[in-house]
Amino acid sequence: MAIIEHEDKEVLKKWGMGLESILEHCHFCRKPTPYWHTNTNNPVCQECAKTHRVSELPDYGQRVRAMKRKERANAGINRSREAASG
Ligand SMILES: [Zn+2]
Repeated sequence: MAIIEHEDKEVLKKWGMGLESILEHCHFCRKPTPYWHTNTNNPVCQECAKTHRVSELPDYGQRVRAMKRKERANAGINRSREAASG
């Protein structure tokens, strides 16, 4: 599979919940990995990404994609709130 993203530690640090030190476990080999497959929202290490297909992953992505759409909408609202109170 092609689309693997690296956890952005700087972004996670900004969230301030210690998330930058948490590694998820690869869906296939259970090794801790900072990589994941975005569309299905599964942690997948680089090695397994080379040897496995997207169709082998459960698709948690539908829900996540819906959530992200909501988040983007909310983020827009928050930004305008901050501007108003700032
Ligand atoms: Zn793996």
